[in-house]
Amino acid sequence: MRGKFITFEGIDGSGKTTIASLLHKKLGSRSVLTFEPTDSWIGRSVGKAIEEGRDAITIALLFMADRREHIKEIEKWLSEGKIVICDRFMDSTFAYQSEHMNMENAEKWLRTVHSPFMLIPDLTFLLRISPEKAMERIKGRRHEAYEYEDFLRRVQENYLRIASMEKERIVVIDAERSKEEIMERCLEILTKRNLI
Ligand code: ADP
Repeated sequence: MRGKFITFEGIDGSGKTTIASLLHKKLGSRSVLTFEPTDSWIGRSVGKAIEEGRDAITIALLFMADRREHIKEIEKWLSEGKIVICDRFMDSTFAYQSEHMNMENAEKWLRTVHSPFMLIPDLTFLLRISPEKAMERIKGRRHEAYEYEDFLRRVQENYLRIASMEKERIVVIDAERSKEEIMERCLEILTKRNLI
């Protein structure tokens, strides 16, 4: 039987990595934990391009090239019946890159580029948190250009707009609660939908 594909989305500091790995631990070897950008050379080139301050369109294309390869891997795991848990996926591109690109209808363009190789997750958890709180959580982290409060606010608005258009796929989770409460809520939803 084909596996299931679950993604975690949200602004930096919302707790994606934490909750995704807790879920992976809970599900054990039935699951695979993966993330984007990947640690392949294509994925690493994304970080390099950001560090070098490359053009936003270049960066968006690198993210999508990395995803193209990643989707092939994910498809393989799904064909083996695995529950694939992914820390950031396509919604990150739509929510973040359209903020960086100085282009009208950026999100539409990103979706068009993606359309020949799209893989729609069975379920996406969108971790929602106030940008102030998210900033507090990540204050020790290397100061990335991406991690500014106003920027995060706009990105979160993009995420919430996308979630309102895809109510069935995207479940918004209150990420200000404790890790245990968030996990419990995620497990409840996954069970209800027969995904685990
Ligand atoms: P993201 O992957 O979304 O950037 P992380 O999972 O790396 O976020 O979490 C950022 C920081 O916040 C980490 O130090 C993590 O331990 C902490 N954290 C994550 N979830 C919670 C939570 N529910 N409550 C309090 N702190 C949390």
